[in-house]
Amino acid sequence: MSAPAIGARELIQAWGRILTGYRPNLSIEITKECPLRCPGCYAYGDDHLGGAITLRGLADYKGHELVSRFMALVDRQKPLHVSIVGGEPLVRYRELNEILPALAARGIYTQIITSAVRPIPVEWSELRRLQIVVSIDGLPAEHDERRKPATYERILKHIEGHQITVHCTVTRQQVRREKYLEEFLAFWQANANTRLIWISLYTPQVGELSIERLTADDRDGLLTEIRRLRPTFSKLHAPDAMLQAYAEPPDSPADCVFAQSTECFSSDLERRITPCQFGGKPDCVNCGCVASAGLTAIARHRLSGVPLGQVFTASMAVGRTVSRMRQTLTPADPLPSRPSERAQ
Ligand code: SF4
Ligand code: SF4
Repeated sequence: MSAPAIGARELIQAWGRILTGYRPNLSIEITKECPLRCPGCYAYGDDHLGGAITLRGLADYKGHELVSRFMALVDRQKPLHVSIVGGEPLVRYRELNEILPALAARGIYTQIITSAVRPIPVEWSELRRLQIVVSIDGLPAEHDERRKPATYERILKHIEGHQITVHCTVTRQQVRREKYLEEFLAFWQANANTRLIWISLYTPQVGELSIERLTADDRDGLLTEIRRLRPTFSKLHAPDAMLQAYAEPPDSPADCVFAQSTECFSSDLERRITPCQFGGKPDCVNCGCVASAGLTAIARHRLSGVPLGQVFTASMAVGRTVSRMRQTLTPADPLPSRPSERAQ
């Protein structure tokens, strides 16, 4: 669940889900297909699914079978928030034309994360609680090289009629030039189809040595630059608590509220991705994920002197017990599966 989408009502609902043994967030790799070959893509990494198989080797579904299996998974997991990732989700835009309205009808907050390599169906702009997040990694010279065929030219055409969230993952290449981030923000701030701008920092795997990886100085310099630019660019969402979470990420997946509150499935809709959506062995102390930073910021918030993260950890323990009880109860003696079912 990304921080900008969270309000007090959603937090209380999420807490209710956790206490009854469900994770409030669900992330699904809807397809294993993608026409892009981005350097540093974690989804196609050898260890993303634990090493025995890669995403390209996994099954995926199409047509009615995908729609029915996807919705069955959602109905089993009972999330408040669904992130649809890939591969490239727009490869399955026909199926999404059925899935997205079905999620909206269930009142589920949905985020679709896309490269905008093909047109985003204009009817999606009418769907409630849908956030379209477009990955745009830098200015045209760098982005088009990294993410062709999802070039700036195509993106600008394909987002027409929408209000998108621009999501930029900053890599080493982008911090080398002075004023780079400022130029990027100025471009997307001026675009009428941009509603919000998010900045993630490239998250490496443990021990990764790559040209994408940011150094500690890069990270510090970037956070200083974001703080400097924030007053100028109203669409940039980067509150202090989030920047502090980038500066001091969780030590491990066990300390990460995002990892603990999100169930991630790959394209066969059965295989779980652990310990978080990155899979493999993500380097938590160098995490730069915007969703993780958003939830870490909330967890560090103090309520009557107690960090919300402590309430979360205790609630997760209660939820695990309730979940175990549910599994041992007979179908004739079920526990209420979510607070709304008790109220009805
Ligand atoms: S668009 Fe996403 S899934 Fe496809 S190669 Fe790029 S990073 Fe990987
Ligand atoms: S890499 Fe980031 S999102 Fe994943 S578990 Fe670690 S801190 Fe959480």
